[in-house]
Amino acid sequence: MDEIICLYVGKEKYETLAKVGHLFEYQLWDLKENGIYDDNGIHWPIEFFFSGDWKFMYNIMGLNAPNVKYFCLYCNCEAGERWNMDLQWPINENTKCKKKPVLFTAIKQENYVSDKLHLLLRISDILIECFFNDLFKKKEFEQQIKSQIEQTMKTIKVHFEFFKSKSHGKWEWTLLMGSDKKKVLQYFPVSQFILGKHDEDIEKLWRDFYGLYVVLRKPFLTNSEIDDFEIKVKQWIYLFCRPNQG
Ligand SMILES: [Zn+2]
Repeated sequence: MDEIICLYVGKEKYETLAKVGHLFEYQLWDLKENGIYDDNGIHWPIEFFFSGDWKFMYNIMGLNAPNVKYFCLYCNCEAGERWNMDLQWPINENTKCKKKPVLFTAIKQENYVSDKLHLLLRISDILIECFFNDLFKKKEFEQQIKSQIEQTMKTIKVHFEFFKSKSHGKWEWTLLMGSDKKKVLQYFPVSQFILGKHDEDIEKLWRDFYGLYVVLRKPFLTNSEIDDFEIKVKQWIYLFCRPNQG
């Protein structure tokens, strides 16, 4: 299969992307409607899909930023109700936010697929940040816990260090790539570092999130695997919201 790479040098901004997108809008429609004929005269129908990180997705889809009330790429769910797994939000289209025209009309709504890698990166950032922020509050952090964490990271073969930010004096840590984050989510012994009633819950959140990510990456899923995924995601959200209430 041939792959076509198109480089776009410009800002990730709706107005700029709209100008560029406009240049090949007609070609995309032509391909969608007519497909192509190869050298052997065989007709290939064409269907378009779109994938990217969230920011690129909402620009292309003409939607608003993820921090607004109606943030979702696929439905009308409200930011304040995100935690409530008893509510139903039919997956179709976000019609509540102030929409701009979609940039590529040749792509069907159901063919926008948000990127798994960024999902992994951003959610693991939140999990890791919550964990560290709890540890920073402890008085033994600098003398003891800091080096214990760094050592433990070594045992799971992740290069990792804490350092104090020069600008605001707060603790920061090595930026982890996707492959390192996967190791941390799978193997880091979270519960060794938190003593309290939530320690096992937090470790479970890390492990279960990794498990969900693995399912999401599978090239093929059966209907029952998809149903099971939905149940597990809801359980995960319940668990994620619980420690914050306590
Ligand atoms: Zn939604």
